[in-house]
Amino acid sequence: MSSKDWIEKDYYAALGVDKSASSDEIKKAYRKLARESHPDHNPGDTGAEERFKTVSEAYAVLGDEKKRREYDEMRSLFGSGAFRRNARGGGQPGGMPFDVSDLFGGGAGGGDSRFSGGGFTDLFSSIFSGGGGAGGPARPRGPARGRDVETEVALDFTDAVRGVTLPLTLRAPGVCDTCHGNGAKPGTQPVACPVCHGAGVTTRNQGSFSFSEPCRNCQGVGTIVEEKCPECHGTGGVTKTRTLNVRFPAGVADGQRIRLAGRGEPGERGGPAGDLFVQVKVRPDELFGRTGDDLTLTVPITYAEAVLGTDLRVPTLDGTVTLRVPPGTPGGRVLRARGKGVVRKDGRAGDLLVTLDVVVPAKVSDEARAALETFAAQTPPAAREHLDARVRRFS
Ligand SMILES: [Zn+2]
Ligand SMILES: [Zn+2]
Repeated sequence: MSSKDWIEKDYYAALGVDKSASSDEIKKAYRKLARESHPDHNPGDTGAEERFKTVSEAYAVLGDEKKRREYDEMRSLFGSGAFRRNARGGGQPGGMPFDVSDLFGGGAGGGDSRFSGGGFTDLFSSIFSGGGGAGGPARPRGPARGRDVETEVALDFTDAVRGVTLPLTLRAPGVCDTCHGNGAKPGTQPVACPVCHGAGVTTRNQGSFSFSEPCRNCQGVGTIVEEKCPECHGTGGVTKTRTLNVRFPAGVADGQRIRLAGRGEPGERGGPAGDLFVQVKVRPDELFGRTGDDLTLTVPITYAEAVLGTDLRVPTLDGTVTLRVPPGTPGGRVLRARGKGVVRKDGRAGDLLVTLDVVVPAKVSDEARAALETFAAQTPPAAREHLDARVRRFS
């Protein structure tokens, strides 16, 4: 039993009961119909056999309170024609039974609904994952999902701060252009699997229970390829070079991993694509460093500038900014230029943090030395009293 069955089949109608029927009413209706249509009472009547199957299938869901709840939930979510059969490519049995672009806007996939399949599967798996105990509804099976792809991109420091869109060239499996991924030789189409009649699952009836399992003949795809595509040998995928434009948001950080849903390997024969993960490396800048959304910069100043104060003109990423160094500023002090850091899309911005580094000249001229000696004579000694007691202990 697949999710497709649940959406398409009205089990209440099959049992001739109202949606609000009690579990007793459902049981009664089922018993009556099962008795009437039972193959033992109708030998050789294929119509009765079909009715018996339908009734059993309906009761397998409605007779189980948990499954009935899930069924009701799914029908109310997706019922009444919210899903259209995918008309593209003549229906592609089993490949992509619904036109998901109706539901998900079809934006990310660039018109190819196969690539928006991720949301579709996620939605279903969350509906089906409740409980997970024995006897729960089988997870819908379909063509295997494509693998995730990992790649690495090195960004310039400035690009990472401002955000950038870069073409990313990937050599990875992609959808075969010759058969558009369905694996069939051009001019032919995959045909419905003769074993499961396109459902992808086979059902065995045993008394009033029915068991579903993925069809072994078609591996749950629902279709088989009779004449294989010569390009991809029936797999629907070939190795190709793809170029994707990837948008890196402003403030993307070194080591960050960006997920592009549905941009990984395509699934086999039209299955949902995997995801693409882009590992970001940010090349260091020769001037600026970065802590979160703040940019950092170290600016050397002279001793005289630290003592007397000065106005410093320093570069930012986009221009310059003038910072006032007040007289008597100690070395190591950090000045802040507000909003000159990483500017996020939502307008939040970090700051530029400027660390002042008081530089001591290795050599001075005779005049400078004389001036410094005069200066020293005019300056009280540095406050080292708190160290002196400890020093005296060792002398
Ligand atoms: Zn092909
Ligand atoms: Zn099959």
